[in-house]
Amino acid sequence: MPEGTMNSQTLNKKLFSFLEESTSPFHAANALKNILIQAGFTPLNEHQKWSVQPGKPRFIIREDGAVVAFNIGKKDNSQFRIAASHTDSPGLKLKPKPDLFQKSYHQLGVEVYGGALLNPWFDRELSISGRISFSTPSCQLDSKLVDFRRPVAIIPSIAIHLDREANREKKINPQKDILPIFGLTSKRKQSFADHLQTLLAEQIDLKNGTEILSFDLFFYEMKKPGYVGINKDFIVSSRLDNLLSCYIIASVVSQADKDNSFMLICNNHEEIGSLSASGAQGNLLETVFKRIYPDPEERYSILANSFLISVDNAHALHPNFPEKYDSSHDIELNTGPVLKINANHKYASTSISNGLFKILCQEKRIPVQEFVMRNDMACGSTIGPATAAKLGIKAVDVGIASLAMHSIREMTGAKDPLMLHTVLNHFFQRDQLPQVYASI
Ligand SMILES: [Zn+2]
Repeated sequence: MPEGTMNSQTLNKKLFSFLEESTSPFHAANALKNILIQAGFTPLNEHQKWSVQPGKPRFIIREDGAVVAFNIGKKDNSQFRIAASHTDSPGLKLKPKPDLFQKSYHQLGVEVYGGALLNPWFDRELSISGRISFSTPSCQLDSKLVDFRRPVAIIPSIAIHLDREANREKKINPQKDILPIFGLTSKRKQSFADHLQTLLAEQIDLKNGTEILSFDLFFYEMKKPGYVGINKDFIVSSRLDNLLSCYIIASVVSQADKDNSFMLICNNHEEIGSLSASGAQGNLLETVFKRIYPDPEERYSILANSFLISVDNAHALHPNFPEKYDSSHDIELNTGPVLKINANHKYASTSISNGLFKILCQEKRIPVQEFVMRNDMACGSTIGPATAAKLGIKAVDVGIASLAMHSIREMTGAKDPLMLHTVLNHFFQRDQLPQVYASI
């Protein structure tokens, strides 16, 4: 969309539908695929030989959860503009044999995925979505995305009358306290697999003889994204970390000038350390660059000229807990994107890459904030350092300010998505990136 025609309401509305659609990392990758196809990107297959041409944007999906989209510039292919984010969010994942029939209840066993904040998972209407693999009647392996799309489970709190200390100290045992209730035990004792088979029959045309072999299924909250605050100052949703960044990058990449070389990367598995084939510590981006530029000399010089903006949410100041923050680096909502900085390189930002990002913000009159963690608290990390190390590329870690990170319902400022969109759009459209002089 040309600049000037986008406003916060339009952008947030589209963001909300993306969030609703993207109930698992696989669904997020699928939603990104649809945006890219609409914008004229065509798929590439990792299993086949590649042929890529300038001005013909392409994309790949690895392991159903990571997406790389790129365009080789028609005019300028000496440097890539790259924006990165991740498709996964912390939550509860079904165990391989989830059925637990306890007393009169049918419950489902879960593993905690990533650093989920568990308290907010109680008393929510939960559904289940993700990916299943199955064998076809001709003994081939196939996989499909599935989504129950209705509230099928809940984790009720224990009443305060039975836990008088609940408001003073609430500890959660993740093995026994957060088992979602799926229903009451039926006479026929239908298993989760039976229900999954019924769902599949409704959603997917399965042939007789199909057998479910395994699944990657996650619980998610049914509540829709929306505005909150007397003046609608905030937006709230599940999975804002980091589907907000995925959507905004996809949106600007769709409009990017094909004269320039550019790339979108949305990795999976960031929340569990990025070490996987589709994670930032895997070889995904390296492989893509090697296949676009088989000549190492050409590849290395292009990477040395390129710039990566890694986008993931940042911590805004929580008014009830100001002591948790470095008081010289207060981060506010609706006050522009945040540069994330850490002396121990938990973030990829350096004085050079911070400077480059600040120039992009200044040119669009977008305010920019700087975050550091307190020295007496551990700093989180994201995909920036791993990607920068793998590629040997200049990189910066940024993100919009947010509260309740890793809760089942997170929040940010209603104006923050558009500010991030404006800066990233400028990054992809600018004639040339600001020059960085080599140190030798
Ligand atoms: Zn994140």
